Amino acid sequence: MTALSDLISRQITRFGPINIAEYMTLCLLHPTLGYYTTRDPIGAKGDFVTAPEISQMFGEMLGLALAQTWQDQGAPSRFLLTELGPGRGSLMADILRATRNVTGFWDAAEIWLVEASPRFQAIQQQSLAPYRVSFVGDVSDLPAAPLFLVANEFFDALPIRQFIRDQEGWCEQMVGLDAGKLVFGLAAPIPDVTGMSKTLVPIGGIVETCLAAQSIMGEISAAIACNGGAAIVIDYGDWGSHGDTFQAVQNHQKTDPLGAPGHADLTAHVDFLALAAAASGSSASKLVEQGVLLERLGITERARMLATKLQGRALENHIAAHRRLVHPDEMGALFKAIAFHANNTPPPPGFD
Ligand code: SAH
Repeated sequence: MTALSDLISRQITRFGPINIAEYMTLCLLHPTLGYYTTRDPIGAKGDFVTAPEISQMFGEMLGLALAQTWQDQGAPSRFLLTELGPGRGSLMADILRATRNVTGFWDAAEIWLVEASPRFQAIQQQSLAPYRVSFVGDVSDLPAAPLFLVANEFFDALPIRQFIRDQEGWCEQMVGLDAGKLVFGLAAPIPDVTGMSKTLVPIGGIVETCLAAQSIMGEISAAIACNGGAAIVIDYGDWGSHGDTFQAVQNHQKTDPLGAPGHADLTAHVDFLALAAAASGSSASKLVEQGVLLERLGITERARMLATKLQGRALENHIAAHRRLVHPDEMGALFKAIAFHANNTPPPPGFD
């Protein structure tokens, strides 16, 4: 079988260097050779672990926050309970379990998952087997109804472009070939790139943009403006774009992003300022650290309650999982959360 690296090299030989967004899209979602289309990389045996895989408490807290928001908006009798890029389906399973006693919530919820990879769709179908689940590949294909949505480590997987400022303008970072190896190189400067201000970036500074994130956020915000609802987005990143954050992870280790196309996870930090700007149709909360959000939602009381039923190794693992999710030296401060909600409605709990 052709390796993805050969396919990319051939394309570059014939048509010239590609930008990082094109490279990421090929590596992550090529129909037969892409990272997300050929494997299940999440978990201790895979390449990386995500919050819902660390503890059920993550999904429980978010599920109850979403249910409260649904009640705050008058408990609409039909709504979309939606997740973007649900991975192994654990987050949605925990959200559903935590909300089963919220009166009317399950009856009103239609579960819609936005997932590009058929392989992941099959895994999600399995982990959510007791429930009726619908899939779309893109948020624009969701039906029109109040939308209550979560996205954890979704936006970091979307393709970014990098621009480096020089005296004359912006040089895009490209992927080309040198002696048969994939290498980074700069394109000729272009004087202006829409939405990027030269005055804010020093010569030599790098700015990352993610058009896909902006368009998806725009769609979600328009849907919320039109039909009501809220979206909770959690990811690693910051307010604004701060230099080069393009990275590859394989086997829980950082690796060369050009080293093994299709075999490593490729991500970039999420620019929450750009998300908020794209979501102008709805109201945005402040950005809050994941640890702070989970504490406000009551994760520590929940952890104590679960701990009473555990002992030995299971109890140790449980305590370590709580720490991993909330402690600033672990995921607590690196990961941030933001909520978008219908105008003139309260933000989800934990976000005010
Ligand atoms: N949210 C999960 C998984 C994160 S991995 C968790 O927290 O464990 C990223 C997920 O997004 C995978 O399910 C991947 O297949 C999906 N994905 C990546 N790019 C996508 C795109 N452009 N559209 C829809 N889904 C995408």
